[in-house]
Amino acid sequence: MNFDSVIILDWSAAAKPTRGKDSIWIGQAGAGAAAPVNPATRAEAMALLRGRIAAARAKGLRVLVGADFPFGYPQGFAAALTGQDRALALWGWLMGQVQDAPDNANNRFDLAARINAQLPGVGPFWGRPSGLDLPDLPEKGSLRADMPFAERRVVEAQEPKAQPVWKLFTTGSVGSQALLGIAHLARLRADLGADCAVWPFEPSGAAGVVLAEVWPSLLAEQVAAAEGLYPCKDAAQVDLLAKALAGMAPGDLAGLMAPDAAAGVLAEEGWILGAGKADALRAGLAGDLPALTPPRLRNDCFAMPQGVDWVPVDEALARLRSVLVPLARTETLPVAQAGGRVLAADAVALRSNPPRANAAVDGYGFARHALTGEGPWTLPLVPGRAAAGQPFDGAVPAGQAIRILTGAILPQGVDTVVLEEDCATDAARVAFDGPVKPGINTRRAGEDVAEGQVALRKGRVLTPPDLALLSALGLAQVQVHAPLRVGVLSTGDEIIATPGDPALPHQIHDANRPMLLELIRRWGFDPVDLGHVADDPRKIAARLDKGARLADVMLTSGGASAGDEDHVSHLLRTRGSLSSWRIAMKPGRPLALALWRGVPVLGLPGNPVAALVCALIFGRPALALMAGADWPQPAAFTVPAAFAKRKKAGRREYLRARINTMGQAEVFASEGSGRISGLSWAEGLVELPDGAAEITPGSAVRFLPFGF
Ligand code: AMP
Ligand code: MG
Repeated sequence: MNFDSVIILDWSAAAKPTRGKDSIWIGQAGAGAAAPVNPATRAEAMALLRGRIAAARAKGLRVLVGADFPFGYPQGFAAALTGQDRALALWGWLMGQVQDAPDNANNRFDLAARINAQLPGVGPFWGRPSGLDLPDLPEKGSLRADMPFAERRVVEAQEPKAQPVWKLFTTGSVGSQALLGIAHLARLRADLGADCAVWPFEPSGAAGVVLAEVWPSLLAEQVAAAEGLYPCKDAAQVDLLAKALAGMAPGDLAGLMAPDAAAGVLAEEGWILGAGKADALRAGLAGDLPALTPPRLRNDCFAMPQGVDWVPVDEALARLRSVLVPLARTETLPVAQAGGRVLAADAVALRSNPPRANAAVDGYGFARHALTGEGPWTLPLVPGRAAAGQPFDGAVPAGQAIRILTGAILPQGVDTVVLEEDCATDAARVAFDGPVKPGINTRRAGEDVAEGQVALRKGRVLTPPDLALLSALGLAQVQVHAPLRVGVLSTGDEIIATPGDPALPHQIHDANRPMLLELIRRWGFDPVDLGHVADDPRKIAARLDKGARLADVMLTSGGASAGDEDHVSHLLRTRGSLSSWRIAMKPGRPLALALWRGVPVLGLPGNPVAALVCALIFGRPALALMAGADWPQPAAFTVPAAFAKRKKAGRREYLRARINTMGQAEVFASEGSGRISGLSWAEGLVELPDGAAEITPGSAVRFLPFGF
C-alpha cells in the first residue's frame, strides 16, 4: 500500500465556529505537506480538505485521508436503521439525516433522540446538554436499558481507551463527532465517486483517495514529547500522525491496513487504522522529528556595552532598531484583503494610471493647434462621442471637435478639452471663447504612475487608499508579511487577573493586559493573551514557554525592575540573557529586554502609566520593525504650552497631555505615575527634551498624539 500524501483530520462536533484547542485541525505530510491548519467550522474544513484532495489528484497523487472518529457502530446497528448490515449503508442514511449548517449549527442531538425512539429499549445514544429537552435521549449512560447492541466495537477491545460510539456529550466523547463526521465523509465519497474508497469497508488498492478511521492516541507519547513545538495538542496530533503514516514503508502500511478481524465485523463496524499495532505506526515517525527553527537573534543581542549606565531614549531606540529583525513569514493575499498588512516586496505597477490619455471633464475635445487666439470659435462636431468605457474609434480631423465625457480616452487628433459649461452647441456645431490653454482638461497617460514604476515600497503598511492605488495599477494580489503575533503577560502576586473578580485590600485588578492587548490590535498586530501569572519562577517560565510557542514577541508588565520580588527579571537574567536598560526617561525607567527560546521579550514597567508610555515609545516601533514595516517616526507637532514646568537636565520626560480649544497643550493635573485616569484624560504626550528646560505658558513644546 503506497500513498503520496497523508491528510489527517482532527474532527470536532462543536455547535459554533471554534478555533484552537479541541477544534478542528488538519495536518498533511508527504506531497503537499503543510503545517497544521485550524479551520473554524466543519464546512470550512471540508472545503479545505476537498481542495487539498483535488490538488493532489490533479497531479495524479494518491491520498490517504485519516479522520479521528468511528466510521462504524457495533454490529446490528446499521441493519436496524437501514435493513442492511453494512456500515456504508448507514453512511448513506446519515448523509440524508444529518443537518450541519455552515456556522456549525447542527441537529445531532435531535437525530440521536429520533434514532433512539425508533429502536427498542432506552438508548443506545446518550449524553446531551442538560438544558436540552429530549426525552428519548438519556442524559446519563446508566439510564439506558435493554440495549440491543454491544456497548463497544470489536476493535475497541484492542484499544480499550477508545471511547464508545454511543456517548454524545462531555469529556472525550466521540459519538457526536461520528454522526456529523460520517455524514460529511459520505458526501465527500459520493462526490468523488469511484476514485474514493472507505477503508476497511471497500477494497482500497485501486482508489486515488482512501478514507480511514484513525486514532491519534496511538501516538500519545510522541505527541506529549513534541506538543510544546505546536500551538496545541491537536495540532501536534495531526502533524505527527500524518508524518508517521507518510513515513511508513509501503509493506508496513499494507500490514496496518489488513487487520486480523472477521470480514463481517470489518464491513459493519469498521476498524481503527493501526489498532494494536502502534509500534509499526511509531516506526513511521523515526527520523521525522518536528523541525526546529533556529533563533534569528543572538542571545546577547540586547546587551549594553560595558559601563553604560543611563541610556538616553534616542540611543535606546537606535539600539532596538539595529538589533531586531523582521519576521520571515510572508503570504500572498488578494489586494482587497491586504489592508493593514505590511508589504513584503515592492509593489510594481502592472499598468499605468491612467492607462491612456483621457478627458478630465465633460465637454468638447479637439486638436488645439487650430486655435491659438481669442476666438470666439465655432467648430463642426464629428458624429458620435467618446465616453468612459466607450472609446471613439475614428480620428477627429483638424478644425473639428467631438463630444467627450469625463474618463473617455482622447480620440486620435484630440489633445485639449473645453468644459461643457463654457460651450454652446446645436448638436452639429460647438462654440466657445478663446484662448484655450493647450492640453487643458486632459490627463496624460501614466501622469500619476507609469507602468513598471514602484508604486509602494516594501515595509509599507497598506492603507485604504493604497488598496485603491494597487487596484488601479492592475495588481490583483500582493506579497505581505504574516501578522506579527504579540503575546501579553501580566505578572505579580498582587494582581487579580479577571476583571470584576473579588479583590482583597492588598490586591489590584490587572489594568495593563486589556490596555496592551487593545493597543496591539489597533496597531494591526495579532494580540495573544498570555494571561497573568503570580511571582513564581516556575509558573512564569512555563507561561513564557507557552508564549514562545504562540507568539513572535512578548510584552510583559510588572516585575521588570531589579527588586527582590521581581521574578520576571530574575528569571530572564538567569535563563533569557536579560539586559535591563536603565533609560533616562520619566516615566518608565527600567525596560527589560531578553530572549526566551529565541523570542524577544520586552519587559514593560508594571505601573500602567509607565507601561503605556514605554509601549508607545519603544514597543510600537520595535513591533513594527518585527512585523516587517518601516521604522515608524512618531507623529509630532509643535504647539504652545498651556502650562508651566521646570525640569532638570539628564532625562526625557513624557507628560499626559491634550490640546485645548486654543490649540495649546495642557497637561494632566498630577504627574503621579499611578493615575490611570490621566491616561484616559490625555490624547497624547508632551515630550520634554533630555536637557534642562523651563516651560512657561506659550513656550513651544512637542505634542505626540496617541494615534491609536
Ligand atoms: P512592578 O513593576 O512589578 O514593580 O510594579 C509597579 C507597580 O505597578 C506596582 O504598584 C504594581 O502593583 C503595579 N502593577 C503591576 N502590574 C500591573 C498590572 N498588570 N495592572 C495594574 N498595575 C500593575
Ligand atoms: Mg511586581
